[in-house]
Amino acid sequence: MCVGLGGCSPKPAERQLFAMDTFMNLTVYGESAEEQLDAIQERIYGLEAQLSVTREGSDIHKLNRSGGTSQTVASETSELLERTLALCRETDGALDVTAYSAVQAWGFTTGEYRVPNQDELDQLKTSIDYTKVEQQGESVYLPPDMKLDFGAVAKGYTGDVLAQMLREAGISSACLSLGGNVQTVGSKPDGTPWRVGIQAPEGGCLAIVEVRDRAVVTSGNYQRYFEQDGQVYGHIIDPATAVPADSGLASVSIIGKDGLQCDGLSTALFVMGTEKATDYWRAHGDFEAIFVEEDGDIFITAGLQDSFSLAEGYQEREVTVLE
Ligand code: ADP
Ligand code: MG
Repeated sequence: MCVGLGGCSPKPAERQLFAMDTFMNLTVYGESAEEQLDAIQERIYGLEAQLSVTREGSDIHKLNRSGGTSQTVASETSELLERTLALCRETDGALDVTAYSAVQAWGFTTGEYRVPNQDELDQLKTSIDYTKVEQQGESVYLPPDMKLDFGAVAKGYTGDVLAQMLREAGISSACLSLGGNVQTVGSKPDGTPWRVGIQAPEGGCLAIVEVRDRAVVTSGNYQRYFEQDGQVYGHIIDPATAVPADSGLASVSIIGKDGLQCDGLSTALFVMGTEKATDYWRAHGDFEAIFVEEDGDIFITAGLQDSFSLAEGYQEREVTVLE
């Protein structure tokens, strides 16, 4: 969600579409904006066809039905897989591209939600292990009992690709909202930063971050979840247990230059919880983060101090700055 487009700027070209299982809202300024929107829309549908886990014929669909035989994938898919596996390693498996068997077993793919019993969970745990994916360039091997999906990174990667296309076409002002992923190009047409809204877990806008040329990616428990016996189960799986992550966080937002990294980390740091995630941030430092806990506490990393503000109705909320 991008807010505060400003009153007297030139009129933007805008487009809404549904792709990658989410509503997208694309805003582009510039003389060739309509043409650019056509081009990036095409690219979105292309990437969706290639990376979708459910689309017959996609590289991922093919891999998940390979029965343990090596498959050749498009060079773009192999590149994305390589970078995603690197993020899985860096996050020590909090991001795990093979979590899909558990996502399915809990019913998040169909909406027929269920809580697997412990035997089934033990079985599922053995089918989540990104280190078993073997890759040699475009040749990829996935063990027969495992399934992978790019749900945690595809929109972030797509944001990177689209932003790059727009920059190459000479566009210096655009805001691409791909579900919980916002990718900005340049600043607003009047030169002031884009103001990106951070959603409150209960709906509405909790806070605003001001950014230029950054991705702002949020993962939360409130987007896709179900409740059973008083327990809330969200669609982000803790790969260590095959159970939906329950780290006390309501949402994590990551702000950085690289949309793929931001998307992967929003999922991984949600699994880690505030403490471990803060350690990860301290050790890496090439991104900023906003942690919103279930009890309402908000933590922001030091680099956001000047660009973060609470939205109307939340100004009494305490915000702790992490150093
Ligand atoms: P969203 O796609 O709703 O913005 P995320 O970026 O956090 O949210 O990605 C969640 C999706 O990623 C899930 O729907 C599932 O397909 C997949 N997934 C769930 N848990 C993990 C995990 N620990 N590592 C990698 N992918 C995951
Ligand atoms: Mg993600």
